[in-house]
Amino acid sequence: MSRVRQSGTESELLVRALVRKCATEQYKENCRDLPGSPDLASVEGRWAIFVHGCFWHRHKACKKATIPKQNRFFWLNKFEANSRRDAQARRKLRRMGYRVLTVWECQTRDELKLDVEIRMFLKSG
Ligand SMILES: [Zn+2]
Repeated sequence: MSRVRQSGTESELLVRALVRKCATEQYKENCRDLPGSPDLASVEGRWAIFVHGCFWHRHKACKKATIPKQNRFFWLNKFEANSRRDAQARRKLRRMGYRVLTVWECQTRDELKLDVEIRMFLKSG
């Protein structure tokens, strides 16, 4: 379990570093005052970024989004609740005028591609 959390942290650090390189607006990290507590968000630029672990947040068609064999019912319920909460947070943010980007843990393995994606996202406002 600690390995999962560790790699999540690495993903967050990478995304933060990439945003730091190209963000032109003021932004904050771990924005608890916004729906879903985005990992990064800018009130000024009206954007929010979530860095999500593929397992916990159910990355669709990702091989990391496995379902444990034990207690399947418990896990399926838990995953559904997580996904619902994430979708709700994105909806709320969009209603507040925010553009939302979700970066999946597995996408942080291709740093160049992610760098381009983040630049395009930050510029699209
Ligand atoms: Zn994934």
